Amino acid sequence: MRGEARHTWSDPYREIYATKRVCWSCALVKVTRHEPGLRPWTEFWRDGRRIRIAGDRTPPCECVSVRTASR
Ligand SMILES: [Zn+2]
Repeated sequence: MRGEARHTWSDPYREIYATKRVCWSCALVKVTRHEPGLRPWTEFWRDGRRIRIAGDRTPPCECVSVRTASR
């Protein structure tokens, strides 16, 4: 789907088996997990709850909780 607002990801925060990014606009957390022996996969989290939508696509940027002035 086109026309959805894009997330503005922070710099990646790397852990041993995961890379995390946070959207400045909507506080969505994108976690890319890469565990040994498994294919990497991506999870999305907000407020401590995992967000899952059909097709495992990226949830749209909703700009709900945090508003950040444009650069
Ligand atoms: Zn966002």
